Amino acid sequence: MEANFPICPPEEILEIIRRLESAGFEAWCVGGCVRDSLLGKTPYDWDVTTSALPQETKSCFPEERLLEVGALHGTITLLPPKGRPVEITTFRREGTYTDGRHPDQVIFSTHLEDDLSRRDFTVNAMAYHPSRGLVDLFGGQEDLQLGLLRCVGNPARRFSEDALRILRCLRFSATLGLQVEKSTAQALWEKKKLLLGLSPQRVREELTKLLCGNKAPDILRNYGEIFFTLLPELAPMATCAQETPYHCYNVWEHTLHALEHILPASDLRWAALLHDVGKPSKKIYSPDGVAHFYGHPPESGKLARAILTRLRFSNREIQWIGNLVDHHEDSLPMTDKALRKLLGTWGERFVFRLFQLMEADMSAKAPGVFERRMPDVEESRRRARAILERGDCLHVRDLALHGQDLKGLGIAPGPAMGQLLNRLFDAVQDGLVPNEKEALTQLVRQWEKTS
Ligand code: ATP
Ligand code: MG
Repeated sequence: MEANFPICPPEEILEIIRRLESAGFEAWCVGGCVRDSLLGKTPYDWDVTTSALPQETKSCFPEERLLEVGALHGTITLLPPKGRPVEITTFRREGTYTDGRHPDQVIFSTHLEDDLSRRDFTVNAMAYHPSRGLVDLFGGQEDLQLGLLRCVGNPARRFSEDALRILRCLRFSATLGLQVEKSTAQALWEKKKLLLGLSPQRVREELTKLLCGNKAPDILRNYGEIFFTLLPELAPMATCAQETPYHCYNVWEHTLHALEHILPASDLRWAALLHDVGKPSKKIYSPDGVAHFYGHPPESGKLARAILTRLRFSNREIQWIGNLVDHHEDSLPMTDKALRKLLGTWGERFVFRLFQLMEADMSAKAPGVFERRMPDVEESRRRARAILERGDCLHVRDLALHGQDLKGLGIAPGPAMGQLLNRLFDAVQDGLVPNEKEALTQLVRQWEKTS
C-alpha cells in the first residue's frame, strides 16, 4: 500500500501547536490523522498530543471556547469558531488495567515516547510535527506499506488490558483494508472471550464502524467466531445450508454477499447483516427435499430487535432496522395498495431503503435471480414514485373529508368519528372510493343508512 503521502495539518492545528510551543511545551499531531494522511486520505479530525498538563493547556487558550469534560483523562477539547472540535491530550503512559476496559489510573508523562507506546496499533502510534517531521517508533509507516495491522507491544497483553482493542483491530482492518499481522491475529482468537466484558455502547459503536468498512464481509468471514461471541444469535447461520434453487450459498455466506452489495450506511449494513438471522430456526423440507424458510422475516425481525436492544440502539433505530428486516421479503412488484400502506406508515425514506435491501439480497442469491427479479424492484420503485407524485392519500389527515365535514353531517366528535375516518381511509387506500369530498360524503351517508 502506498503510505508516504505528505502530512498537511490545517492552519488551526498549526496555530494550536505554535501556541503550546511558545509557552514552552511540546505538541504533535498524533494517531488517526497521521495514519490517514500517510495513506493519502483526508483525516476525519486532527488530534494533538502535548507535554502540557490539562490546566496548562487551558491557560494557553484563554480566549477560546474549551470543553473540559475529559480533563481528568488529560483531554481539553478546543471548539474553534468553525470546523471540528480539536482534542488536545497530555502525554500519557499506560497504567495497569484490572477490569479489561478502564486503566486503573491515568499517568501523565513528559515524554512523547510513553504516549506513543500506550497506543493500540503501530499505524496509530505515529506523531507528526510540522518542522520536526514524523516520529515512528514502532514501524507504523512500514506496516502501512506492507498493509499490516500490528499491536504495539505484546498483542495478548494489549488485548487483555482493553478488550475494545480486539474490535478496533477488526474495525481498522475492515475500514483500511489492512491484514491483521499473524501474532496479533492469534491473540484476537485467544482473547475473544474478553469481549463479553465490554459495555454494549462501545461494542455498538465499533461494530457499526466495522460494518461500514469496505472489507467488512471479509473480516466477518475470516473472524466469524469472534463476532459470534458477541452475537451468538448469528452463529447458526454459518452452518445453515439453503438447499433451494434460489440460493447458491449457505445463509451466512449469503448474508456476507448481501452486505457486500449494500451501501456503507449504518442502518442498511445492520439490516443486511440481520435480515436472515431467523432463517435457521425456520428451516423445513418439502417432500422433494427442497428447504423452505416460511415466516423467517418476522422471526429475523424479532431477533434483530433483541440484538439491537441489547446493544443499546435507540428505539427509533431498533424499529427502523427491525422493520426493514420484517419487510425484506414482501412480494414483488409491490401493489399500489401495499406501497401506500408502507409509505403512510414508515415514510418515503424507509421504502426506498427497503428497495436497496431487497436488491442487495437478490444480488447474493443464485446466478440469474438478480436479473430475473430486479425488474420487479424497479417497477415497485416506479410505482412508489408515482404515488408520491400523484399525492395519493397516505394518512388519515390526507383524506378529502375531515372531522369538521363529518360534524356537518351530524356525526358527533369522539371515538366513533375517529373510527369512521379510519374506515374511510381504508376504503380510499383499498381503491374502493376516490379521495374526493363528494364521493366520501356519499359513502358516509350510505354507511349511516345501513348501520
Ligand atoms: P478514527 O477517528 O478514524 O476512527 P482514530 O485512529 O483517530 O480513528 P480514535 O478512536 O479517534 O481512532 O483514537 C485516536 C487515537 O487514540 C488512535 O489512533 C490510537 O492511537 C489511540 N487509541 C484510541 N483508542 C485506543 C485504545 N482503546 N487503546 C489504545 N490506543 C487507543
Ligand atoms: Mg480520531
